[in-house]
Amino acid sequence: MNVVPAIKAIEAEIGSIKAKHRMELEPYETSLRELRKINTACEMCAGKGKVFKRSCAEDEGDYYECSSCNGSGVKKK
Ligand SMILES: [Zn+2]
Repeated sequence: MNVVPAIKAIEAEIGSIKAKHRMELEPYETSLRELRKINTACEMCAGKGKVFKRSCAEDEGDYYECSSCNGSGVKKK
């Protein structure tokens, strides 16, 4: 059975969807890069220095010092 035309058609479709997605994503990725460049706060804890960790019990947990910025809330250089 020769289904090469169908294979080629699907490949072309996938290629065009991927290209469209890249174009859609590009402005967001550019914004993200720019925002990260000017951001000085730790992304892990949103600059709070603490992160909420859920314990085994459903709605319980505690705040812990952020391990990414060691509680400073400042982005690592
Ligand atoms: Zn942090």
